[in-house]
Amino acid sequence: MAKNQSALDVIVSLAKRRGFVFQSSEVYGGLNGCWDFGPLGVELLRNYKDAWWRAMTLRDDVVGLDAAILMHPRTWEASGHTDSFSDPMIDSKTSKKRHRADTLIEEFIQRLRKKKKTERADAIEARLEQAREAEDFYNIIAEEEIPDPDTGTCDWTEVRNFNLMFKTFVGPLEDESSAVYLRPETAQGIFVNFKNVLDSSRQKIPFGIAQIGKSFRNEINTKYFLFRTREFEQMEMQYFVKPGEEMEWYERWREERWNFYLNLGFNEDSLRRKEHAKLAHYANAAEDIEFHFPFGWGEIEGIHSRTDFDLQRHQEFSGKKMEFVDTVTRDRFVPYVVETAAGCTRGFMAVLCQAYNVESVEGDNGKSEERTVLKFHPKLAPIKAAVFPLVKRDGMPEFAHKLYKDLQRSFTVQYDESGAVGRRYRRQDEIGTPYCFTVDTDSLSDGTVTARDRDTMEQVRIPADGALNWLRDKLDA
Ligand code: ATP
Repeated sequence: MAKNQSALDVIVSLAKRRGFVFQSSEVYGGLNGCWDFGPLGVELLRNYKDAWWRAMTLRDDVVGLDAAILMHPRTWEASGHTDSFSDPMIDSKTSKKRHRADTLIEEFIQRLRKKKKTERADAIEARLEQAREAEDFYNIIAEEEIPDPDTGTCDWTEVRNFNLMFKTFVGPLEDESSAVYLRPETAQGIFVNFKNVLDSSRQKIPFGIAQIGKSFRNEINTKYFLFRTREFEQMEMQYFVKPGEEMEWYERWREERWNFYLNLGFNEDSLRRKEHAKLAHYANAAEDIEFHFPFGWGEIEGIHSRTDFDLQRHQEFSGKKMEFVDTVTRDRFVPYVVETAAGCTRGFMAVLCQAYNVESVEGDNGKSEERTVLKFHPKLAPIKAAVFPLVKRDGMPEFAHKLYKDLQRSFTVQYDESGAVGRRYRRQDEIGTPYCFTVDTDSLSDGTVTARDRDTMEQVRIPADGALNWLRDKLDA
């Protein structure tokens, strides 16, 4: 690792160099909080979304939905976003920079801890907890004289609430009557379609609706690569249950979602559950699944028991009944909801961080060398296999190219004939390709190729015409 480069910087730079993620509109200097997914990133992202979609919908009681990003503005009044989806912000009068008030305090505490001023850090931290309850951050900033990190001055405006929803206009008139918002979460598209799905899909309570889609939040501080961005993707599932049965389902979904990450190769030590210390007024249970990112622990998914708050609000605001009628018992009720709300682009970043490894291995000349390897779960790996001719002559390229074309009918594969074979293995290791097939002189006489495993680096001989099935078995295992 180069000096002064943090572990996260190294991953961000690999992601760019190998075509996973680019800064949005980079040629114009970039747009803060927005990122583009390159050729490998888009494959990895699709595989990650696919894994979630399959886990969620390949069961009897969950169906899918894809709702529009723009929704009727009453949606956001009902959900509470118009009034209270805001962050406290404060401006430095000197640098004119805007900060999230709570983050400003948190970062100050971190700086104190670094300087071993533990007592003062603890005292401010205790005040911060109270400030969160009271939603009053200004007094701490003023009384503790928390300085502007850019200028060192302590010349702050009042704290104001800043709504995080992006506003735009439908049609040619730019006035309040045509104002709409880019959705800040996918969940509301599911709530407003609850009756449509219920009436059209033969589902009965309990059942869930799953959706993957873009969300937008005008975050004050975007940071840590894909962790907090202004445009991002979410994978949410709202599960509708009979009131009184929500805790049982909450427990079940907690387990399901935890296991989802383990099944995708997340290490148990890099995950933790964090129960919410303070519940939202409508929730009766909530916890986050956190991942240990290079900068520390951060939420990747929330599992929430949200009572009937959202459906009741939409019933009230729309005047349309949001009830379920049990045809057997004649019971009528507005269902309770247990939701699993995962960030897909944030999860992608966790996958990348989890996969990143630098190992010391024996090189071609017998000396130890470093290899960078992305140990993606084979299901997630953007490229499933690579095919190489050992050398560029004697019919090896033709043989290898034919194998490559055979595999490409079913999988994303790469063909590479440039440079020493060791270098080609390293290139594939660095993008997380789980298997490589090498064609050599023996291949031409006996029809076998070498199959090499990314993680163990072990090599076995297999018949070239069995390579497709061999690969399929490995990926399914
Ligand atoms: P945070 O506290 O980090 O802002 P949140 O509690 O507001 O997140 P939710 O509204 O519960 O998040 O959204 C569900 C998931 O969506 C989060 O767990 C996260 O993975 C993802 N997410 C939320 N905001 C962003 C963002 N600005 N950028 C990327 N992903 C996000």
